[in-house]
Amino acid sequence: MISPAPLQEKTWTGTAVSDGVAHAVVHVLKDHFDEPDEDSIEPGTEAQQMERLHAALAVTSKEIEELQRVMAGEHGSAESEIFETHLLILQDSTILKQTEKIVREQQVCVDWAYYKLMCKHMDALRGLSDTYLRERFLDVKDVTQRVMRHLRGELLDHPMFDEPVIVVAHDLTPSDTVQLDRSKVLGFALETGSAVSHAAIIARSLALPAVVRLHGICDDLHSGDTVLLDGEGGLLIQNPNAETLARYRLREEQAERREDVFQVERHKPSLTRCGTAICVGANAEFIEEMKIVEDSGAEEVGLFRTEFLHLENPDATEDQLAAAYSKVVKSQAPKRVVFRTLDLGGDKVDERLAVEPEPNPFLGWRGIRLSLGRQDLFKRQLRALLRAAVHGRVGIMFPMVSGVQEVLEAKAVLNDCADELTAEGVDVPDEIEIGAMIEIPSAALSADLIAAEVDFLSLGTNDLIQYTIAVDRLNDRVAKLYQPTHPAVLRLIAMSVKAARTAGIRVGMCGEMASDLTLTPLMIGLGLNELSVATTQIARLKHAVRRLNVQECEALANAVLTCTSPAEIRSLSRAVADRNYPELFE
Ligand code: PEP
Ligand code: MG
Repeated sequence: MISPAPLQEKTWTGTAVSDGVAHAVVHVLKDHFDEPDEDSIEPGTEAQQMERLHAALAVTSKEIEELQRVMAGEHGSAESEIFETHLLILQDSTILKQTEKIVREQQVCVDWAYYKLMCKHMDALRGLSDTYLRERFLDVKDVTQRVMRHLRGELLDHPMFDEPVIVVAHDLTPSDTVQLDRSKVLGFALETGSAVSHAAIIARSLALPAVVRLHGICDDLHSGDTVLLDGEGGLLIQNPNAETLARYRLREEQAERREDVFQVERHKPSLTRCGTAICVGANAEFIEEMKIVEDSGAEEVGLFRTEFLHLENPDATEDQLAAAYSKVVKSQAPKRVVFRTLDLGGDKVDERLAVEPEPNPFLGWRGIRLSLGRQDLFKRQLRALLRAAVHGRVGIMFPMVSGVQEVLEAKAVLNDCADELTAEGVDVPDEIEIGAMIEIPSAALSADLIAAEVDFLSLGTNDLIQYTIAVDRLNDRVAKLYQPTHPAVLRLIAMSVKAARTAGIRVGMCGEMASDLTLTPLMIGLGLNELSVATTQIARLKHAVRRLNVQECEALANAVLTCTSPAEIRSLSRAVADRNYPELFE
């Protein structure tokens, strides 16, 4: 008997953004929908196909009626009326007739016929000039997603995987990410993105390998293909052969042995050689990460990005939010948890809030602007945070502030919430730490004004870099220009640190720049004594801190502030890092 030819190994090279290696089958996510295959059908089975569609429509109707019932109970009938449109779309007889026609004439499965038809309707709606009608595309999209899921036989809200998978996609927005069944995800392989795109940030938080800029993989790979994802070398290897697998096994064993050395001391305090405490915190997005945070050696949660919980359940009530936040607070007490209020907008879009497409979402209705514009949402969150704060130590931090006025407005809303809760007889803490993120150049330039109004500042360099250099953090065409050591960025950091010091308040950094071990000497030299990073980086960062001397770091910071080239600045910092902890770069 002739055995089938072995599958050919094929390698793609991209950009490594999160360490680790995974070997598994892939699940290819196409666009925002899981695009169905264009499967042909047996002649004479058209009626069966349509029966499948009717069944899926019936389950979807039930699901929507249930949502409508819950919504009416919690928010009144006016809000629940939005679902009427959804039900009308499901019952539309023209859509049914057109789907049936496609199935019959093209002899394709009903999944494909319905999907294609609905995509056509969405495109048509999106092109309309009437705002109200244009916004209806979201209703069609929502209904289509639900029907497609039921056609595939999925019962839950999130794409389900039967087995652990590596997710392959063109791009993965934060809302895509929250909908994945993360317990089965072993890694991300994406055609686009960067080290500071949220998919990469989440991969690092969840300690999963991720590679971006793997151009063309969505066309070449199919769900079920076996690959090896190398999050350190930036490779995706399809059909890895025995030799490749053996090489990676060896490499993994060596890496584990090296890592163990740093991990041993992860729970010890991070003091520099000269005894200065540098608080090393963790960044987190999901409740399920709290166990990893606890185990990582983190001294606090320096940034909890609350918008991910929101995207997971946009209709969460104040009680549900308070319960979720309390879980986080209790799991870390007595350590501090800094909750950042919703930073929706930009790439973290709740489509129901910002239905009007924005020409420049990153310069648009994002972060504190959106919260101040949607006080119902903002107050619900702040009240929930205040209720959770009695269970431990909480900081509340406002994102994307462009100046002190927004901080004052946000604080006023927070005070109103505290007064309301007290009047209702609900326990709130006497004092709560309030912080502002410095991630817009105008905020850094007026950091002294902001520092006078808050208890701490936190540098969000992922955005600070993009807004200072005018380089989109997600656009790989301009990725080379995204330079953390650009002199302008360093000056803004130095200015913010000085403002905080003068005001006598805490100042830290929670952008990805804080986890770049090459830059740790420079960050400490610039006066930062709180660094919040992905959990996977905590043991290594603490190891680096323990080997540094503040005086040497300050001398470095003084020297680089007169340098002109980002590359030169990086290499000067690397020289200090190499002198003190070369083992971290082996
Ligand atoms: C930042 O901008 O550095 C930051 C921490 O916020 P995010 O990455 O969520 O925009
Ligand atoms: Mg930011």
